[in-house]
Amino acid sequence: MQAWDVIVIGAGAAGLMCAAEAGKRGRRVLVLDHGKRIGRKILMSGGGRCNFTNYHVEPKAFLCANPHFVKSALARYTQWDFIALVDKHRIAFHEKTLGQLFCDDSAQNIVDMLVKECEQAGVSIRLRAEILEVERLGEGFTVATHDEAYSCHSLVVATGGLSMPKIGASPFGYKLAEQFGLRVLPTRAGLVPFTLQPEDKQSLEPLAGVSLPVVAESEDGTRFAENLLFTHRGLSGPAVLQISSYWQPGERVCFELLPAGRLAEGVADSPNQELKTWLGRQLPKRLVEALLAREGLVNKPLKQYTPRELAAIEERLTAWSLKPGGTEGYRTAEVTLGGVDTHELSSKTMMANKVPNLYFVGEVMDVTGWLGGYNFQWAWSSGWCAGQVV
Ligand SMILES: Cc1cc2nc3c(=O)[nH]c(=O)nc-3n(C[C@H](O)[C@H](O)[C@H](O)COP(=O)(O)OP(=O)(O)OC[C@H]3O[C@@H](n4cnc5c(N)ncnc54)[C@H](O)[C@@H]3O)c2cc1C
Repeated sequence: MQAWDVIVIGAGAAGLMCAAEAGKRGRRVLVLDHGKRIGRKILMSGGGRCNFTNYHVEPKAFLCANPHFVKSALARYTQWDFIALVDKHRIAFHEKTLGQLFCDDSAQNIVDMLVKECEQAGVSIRLRAEILEVERLGEGFTVATHDEAYSCHSLVVATGGLSMPKIGASPFGYKLAEQFGLRVLPTRAGLVPFTLQPEDKQSLEPLAGVSLPVVAESEDGTRFAENLLFTHRGLSGPAVLQISSYWQPGERVCFELLPAGRLAEGVADSPNQELKTWLGRQLPKRLVEALLAREGLVNKPLKQYTPRELAAIEERLTAWSLKPGGTEGYRTAEVTLGGVDTHELSSKTMMANKVPNLYFVGEVMDVTGWLGGYNFQWAWSSGWCAGQVV
């Protein structure tokens, strides 16, 4: 049996960061992954350019049943620390919008950087390793793969969430947590497009391709000002992906298509213009036509509407509400909500409170960030913290 100080399961963002940090401390580290490539999610992230962090990382951008949990790790390894690492490797990057940082060239830069950090720290990485069994051995663990048996003092689970099963996502981490008696909170797809109820699909499908800035709001009052995109399957775009993480089946979602007060301004400035013409100057024309038909709005010059009619139109446009049929699920979701309950883990080290030397890092735990580089920052921060102690 091969003996290691640390075994990290999962050669993704959090696992590689943890492995490199532990290796730098002189620990003998082995990373095992069942995939045939390192960091596959990193490679396809951010449209191939990897939105690797965000200038505005703060705890409120993370969903977690234990809201204070993320504070320590995010403060100990910040976005500035990761940016310094990216700078050290001379990777060119730019801010796209809302503080989101992307590689100028390719997400491959980030994978190469992590691999180099691991190599320099003497970390071994084994791909295509199918893990069959993990067991407790004294203070440490044994890990059996299809062709080899290993032992280690510290075991780090960095197997990520359930999104994109085609590129290697698996429930391995949740099962392992349960095997060791840790609570796993129910999982569901997050940062994911909505599908529509049949009647909405019929009226909105012709809008596929239309995109506009909105404010999306969930029933709990969470709001995101970003773009809404109509698709053949339903609703997408950053506003929808963001709000999907706050949405529960059966709930409604509201979209502010026009800011409050804009219609009153229109009535004052262009009283003779018909509603359809005026709206066509504010919103995409295809959307205006669909809205008038769908919401049963009569088209006439703005000055001819009664105050009550105007209030009703304003209500439809500032709080256009619908009940999604569901989400596209893990097939297209960027993240998994829920996971290993953080009440079971140390917020400083990521170690399981009741299983010494067992660690969980990255998305496998119940921490989910907003769209915009937050999920990678959680992978870097949590992986780094575990890397200091394993
Ligand atoms: C399409 C897409 C785009 C995204 N874009 C962004 C973005 O731009 N910015 C951002 O912040 N976040 C983005 N995300 C989210 C981000 O990729 C994840 O939150 C992040 O990768 C989580 O890191 P992780 O190390 O926890 O898991 P992962 O990076 O998913 O790594 C988990 C690793 O574990 C391995 N593994 C799983 N099961 C097993 C098993 N049974 N045995 C052995 N190995 C196993 C997998 O093969 C994988 O290599 C995106 C996600 C997707 C799907």
